[in-house]
Amino acid sequence: MTDAIEIPERSGTAFTLKQGDTLVVIDPRGEQVADLLAFNAEDLNEVISSGRTLDYAETIYLTTDHILYSNRSRPMLTIVDDTVGRHDFLLTPCSFDTFHHFYPDLPPHRGCFGNLATALEPFGVQPDRIPTAFNCFMNVPIDGETGRLKVLPPISKAGDHVTFRAEMDLIIGLTACSAPDSNGGTFKPIHYRIEAACSPVTTRVATQTDTRKSR
Ligand SMILES: [Zn+2]
Repeated sequence: MTDAIEIPERSGTAFTLKQGDTLVVIDPRGEQVADLLAFNAEDLNEVISSGRTLDYAETIYLTTDHILYSNRSRPMLTIVDDTVGRHDFLLTPCSFDTFHHFYPDLPPHRGCFGNLATALEPFGVQPDRIPTAFNCFMNVPIDGETGRLKVLPPISKAGDHVTFRAEMDLIIGLTACSAPDSNGGTFKPIHYRIEAACSPVTTRVATQTDTRKSR
């Protein structure tokens, strides 16, 4: 297990996650969103898909035991623990254009989109390949009759977390979101921790032994 790593306010990072590793995304102060992206580490054309995931889950509110699927309908991440139960997978990462649209009087910021593009560039991900992110802790209630959505402050409290298990080798992008409305009007850091999978060597040996026995 690594120590918790801090993503400073209004910034982002990218890193690799091996199949079987778990990623714990922590809201250390409460009411702070973290945008999460996942790409297949072996093939950047395979990427996390909101549409596939919401279709298979048959809900827009994802929590423990839900699987985040790729555009090829393969599991990328499984939510294995969730102390909040309210996240968003509808809205794209905030960007310069988001600021022009919603906050024309505020200084523009490159937002999660710009932070993700910069962090993922060394891994070969081009900005136009960035899809809808899984927005940890983002609170977007929907009126079931009208379809109207609202962006409200997260319901996460200090220390709340959501934990994902990698179902394939992944490149992960992760931010501390920069948009005022998504974060209750203030910008806070995000923490994350990686817990490595158990060594696969033991499993392989056991499998070989079993095969020999069965012959
Ligand atoms: Zn954002």
